[in-house]
Amino acid sequence: MKISYFCSMVKVLRYIQSLWEGVLELFYPALCPICDTPLEKGEYVCPSCHKTLRRTEQAIIRGNSTEQLFMGNKRFERGGAYLFFEKGGDVQKMILNFKFARRPEIGYELAKEAALAFMEAGFFEGIDVIIPVPLHPRRLRERGYNQAEVIAKGVHEVTHIAVDTTHLLRIKNNQHQAALRGMKREKNVEDIFAVVHPEDMYRKHILLVDDVITTGNTLCSCMKAMGKFRGCRISVFALGKAIG
Ligand SMILES: [Zn+2]
Repeated sequence: MKISYFCSMVKVLRYIQSLWEGVLELFYPALCPICDTPLEKGEYVCPSCHKTLRRTEQAIIRGNSTEQLFMGNKRFERGGAYLFFEKGGDVQKMILNFKFARRPEIGYELAKEAALAFMEAGFFEGIDVIIPVPLHPRRLRERGYNQAEVIAKGVHEVTHIAVDTTHLLRIKNNQHQAALRGMKREKNVEDIFAVVHPEDMYRKHILLVDDVITTGNTLCSCMKAMGKFRGCRISVFALGKAIG
């Protein structure tokens, strides 16, 4: 009796919550992160801005500019980013909103769209597990979510490949890469990652996921730590690839 009363109370509360969210949406609809137009449900960007996003087609181009950054690593298999990312451009606006304005739905929906396109090109074939670039626990508390993990979950939604967040850890809270130049960037991400239970990843093909690839230093640092995963192969996927 008591349990059924509790269950119906939960249902009522959920109903009130969904009503409240509907009211909020009516008065404060989510805005397009690029042009501030109100969005329809399920949109991460408005249709006219969506048309202007520059896709890289890297899912089908071997030796693309993302792959060129990691060719030196013998475990590296393939890599690709979905959109070109320009400093001060629309894709940057969108990613900044996703990362710093508590709008995880932007990255999630974009990741699903990117994953669909990459899946059609066979990009995910043979991949066993997705590992998002980890965020330091302190930064995770500040931001509320790890943007790379949100992207990984979007890719999972489309591909059904498992996401793992327990074997690769960020052990140092380093400075933001965007504020640094050249060698300082490389030094900033040196030895900031570590792995646990490497035996679980024996001979796995891992898809390492991040939001934007610029110099590739962060991912190279992850790959160095993942060297302890014996016999593993590593591919790379991101929403954006910086140009210029
Ligand atoms: Zn727009």
